[in-house]
Parts: sequence; C-alpha cells; structure tokens
Amino acid sequence: MLSFEERLTKAVTLLKSSENLAAFTGAGISTESGISDFRSKGGVWDRYRIVTYQEFISSHEARVEYWKMKKELYTEIKDAKPNRAHLALAELEHMGKLKCLITQNIDGLHQDSGSSHVIELHGTNRKAVCLDCGKMWPIAEVQTWLEQGIIDPSCDKCNGHVKPATISFGQSMPEAEMIKAFQCAASCDLFLMIGSSLQVEPAASIPREAHNSNARLIYINRTETPTDNLADVCFSENASQVLDELIRLLKSGNNTT
Ligand SMILES: [Zn+2]
Repeated sequence: MLSFEERLTKAVTLLKSSENLAAFTGAGISTESGISDFRSKGGVWDRYRIVTYQEFISSHEARVEYWKMKKELYTEIKDAKPNRAHLALAELEHMGKLKCLITQNIDGLHQDSGSSHVIELHGTNRKAVCLDCGKMWPIAEVQTWLEQGIIDPSCDKCNGHVKPATISFGQSMPEAEMIKAFQCAASCDLFLMIGSSLQVEPAASIPREAHNSNARLIYINRTETPTDNLADVCFSENASQVLDELIRLLKSGNNTT
C-alpha cells in the first residue's frame, strides 16, 4: 500500500500527462455540502418510502406522498453550497484539463461551482417537468405552489402530472445523456471517479468502459468499489483534501516547467 504522498505523486503525474480528462461523480462528493445520501440513516429517506415512477404516474396518493417528501427536502437543496471538491473540478475545467463531467447527482452543485460540461445521468432537482407536454418550471416555483397548499401539482398548460426533473426508481435512464457519458468514457485518456461506490448500473459500467478504452483511472471514494483493481490509484481520503492537493501539485508543476 502506497502512502498518501506517493499516491498523490502518482495521480498528479497522470493528470499532467492527460490531454482528455473525464470525471464521474456520485453522492459522496456532495455529502460535505450537506446533501444526504439516500442510503444514509436518519435522513429524509428514512422517513419516507420510495415512490416508484409507475406509482407516481398511476396513483394520486403516491404523488401526494412524493411531493410531501420533496417539499421537506427542498430546504436542504436550496441551502446547499458547492464544496472544495466541486470547485476543484470546475478549476480543472478552466485549466483546460477536464473535458467532461458525468454526475449521478441531482443537486446542481457542479453548475453552481462553475462547471459547464456536465452530464446529469439522473436529471436535476432544480427543475420540475410536466410528464405530458414537457413544460418546465424552476423547482422554487413549484415549492411555492406546495406552500400554498397544492398537494399534487398539475400542468397549467395541459393538466399533466408535474414531477421534479429527476430520474425516479423504475424510470428509464435518459438516452442522450447515457450515450454522451459512454462516449466521454470511451474517448478520455484519464478517468477520475469521485464519491461513488459503483454498486449499481450504469455507474459500474462507465469506469469499465474507460478502462477498456485504455484510459487510466483514479478513484477517490470512502469505501472500496467492485472495480478498485482497475484503478491506477485509489484514495479513501476526503475528496476535498485529495483534489486540493492534486490541484496544488499540478499548479506548482506548471510553474517549474
Ligand atoms: Zn403539460
């Protein structure tokens, strides 16, 4: 097992030689911003059951329950700020290193931190969408409807069901985003994974796609993943700390060459 310093040196060497860096983020990058992982205990996910997409479409009661949970979750989403790990990825983009950022998160914190090339695999919690006509609203607007007592919001244009623009359990993944994510993984020369346990699909397959296309892999995650063996370097340290150090080393290297 290499020391933290040795792993940093190895990772920064990979970063320096990379000309097409891709990043992939999961819930672990946002926990420092106060966004609860739905698997973590005591969060809103413990108090509400999961409403599937099929239930949402077919049942008024399920929609009421779903929106009640979302109403409670709103404060957590509204108050969340990007942390240093989000900012580091935005900086890597501005440095010209990072070409694409794939995220499983729905919190919008990558965009808040200044990243522009973000592929949101699970949609976004920042907007709501009419499932029939596709009309969209900022989630803040729908929150005001909920606070006015509307318990099952419907579209003012077509009366369709309004749902946060996220991918729910039982809902198929967005095709265009999936294609872009796999293209990005297949074309990068270095793949930086942060904060995902890579337990579920498609999360598990995306780094594998990068590996099969001869990219090098850096993993930053608190726990082991099923594909740690594919990674050139693995960090279990805090993502903010690791990324801060990598950027510092990357910049100091640029000054001397
Ligand atoms: Zn509509």
